[in-house]
Amino acid sequence: MAKKQSVDPFMEKLVSLCKRRGFIFQSSEIYGGLGSCWDYGPLGVELKNNVKRFWWEAMTHRRDDIEGLDAAILMHPKVWEASGHIAGFTDPLVDCKQCKHRFRADTIETVKCPDCGGELTEPRMFNLMFKTFMGPVEEESSVVYMRPETAQGIYVNFHNVLQPSRQKIPFGIAQIGKAFRNEITPGNFIFRTREFEQMEMQYFVHPSEDQKWFDYWKEQRWNWYLELGIRREKIRWHEHGQGELAHYAKAAYDIEYEFSFGWKEIEGIHNRTDFDLSRHAEYSGKDLTYFDQGRNEKYLPYIIETSAGADRASLVVLADAYFEEEVKGETRVALRLSPKIAPIKAAVFPLVKKDGMPEVALKIYHDLKKHFKVFYDDGGAVGRRYRRMDEAGTPYCITVDGQTLEDDTVTVRERDSMEQTRHKIAELVEVIGGKVG
Ligand code: ATP
Repeated sequence: MAKKQSVDPFMEKLVSLCKRRGFIFQSSEIYGGLGSCWDYGPLGVELKNNVKRFWWEAMTHRRDDIEGLDAAILMHPKVWEASGHIAGFTDPLVDCKQCKHRFRADTIETVKCPDCGGELTEPRMFNLMFKTFMGPVEEESSVVYMRPETAQGIYVNFHNVLQPSRQKIPFGIAQIGKAFRNEITPGNFIFRTREFEQMEMQYFVHPSEDQKWFDYWKEQRWNWYLELGIRREKIRWHEHGQGELAHYAKAAYDIEYEFSFGWKEIEGIHNRTDFDLSRHAEYSGKDLTYFDQGRNEKYLPYIIETSAGADRASLVVLADAYFEEEVKGETRVALRLSPKIAPIKAAVFPLVKKDGMPEVALKIYHDLKKHFKVFYDDGGAVGRRYRRMDEAGTPYCITVDGQTLEDDTVTVRERDSMEQTRHKIAELVEVIGGKVG
């Protein structure tokens, strides 16, 4: 099932590190793998959860004007009629008659097969939604779709959230959840997959204030990536031109990241106008207008959407953090992840496995575990243990040595500079905790 993807040398290294250190594995690997599906291992699930938490905190906890939601993946089929996905969520698909490779016609520049130069078939429109059946009978009337985006769950719940939360416009609803798209050409590791997670926020505004809030959200989302520790020079804006704009959008900007395989979209910020609420009002027959007491006016709000991928953001942080350098004739590989999202915040080592050092190290480990994610390792030379933690992106390594037994101090080695400083054991929570929160 898994088609071998041709990956560039940088991605090959990253994919191999992810496997080696337990970040990400090919799905169903023992059966030969399932194309474009990936499983997050022990470190990967921590990393992705941290990315999602970082988003959730920025978008909900730290604000008064955004509520959270977790809607079902399966929705009433009419939702997808109203949203336009049944009619229009399609990509043009072409096949090479010679080598049988398949492409999205809108992503290739030649009229011939980019792989072998062979003749291509006429484009066929292909709907990207996964279909399944609800209940025991597989018939047309029981068809349901796996949602291709989380946004629709927010639109249909607009009034449900508005009433109990007593929010007033402008306000937003945020959601993180799985989405599914039967992509024609998935690839580049977790960049484009058929099952992925989105982090979406829909901000409801008065129609006359759409531009103001659009500009505001562009700035907020840009800054989020910088706060995440992404290098400024690796991200840029891409404005959708007239030909590129989705049918519902008045304006759209993508934040792009410079991957080893080119500048690619990582998040979209869209002015969706009142398209979504007006369509759901029309298809459901329900009044989805909002009464604005301040303005004494009833209207359908405009929606400013910020739509990011949790997997894509995880790939961005991994790719941006990957770093190699020569140290004493050896290549040191490190993931310079921001301590805020690193899967393990600190590792605790006894220098040697004797003289009472493991006991002291284990005590430190159990104490720190109450505050943040720590890892204990007493296997092999300490240099090897440091290298393993460098590859895991662990920002701090705490080592118990001979001096510890005399004065209750330990060394704290910093991942990027490899500098070691001595600290009292009692100060560790303060020294490290402040940076990893
Ligand atoms: P593209 O044109 O590249 O297919 P899109 O414009 O359809 O993408 P959106 O619908 O705007 O993408 O999706 C919003 C975000 O969801 C994207 O910026 C990306 O981070 C994420 N995303 C979309 N499709 C996928 C996918 N197949 N795999 C992983 N993440 C995805």
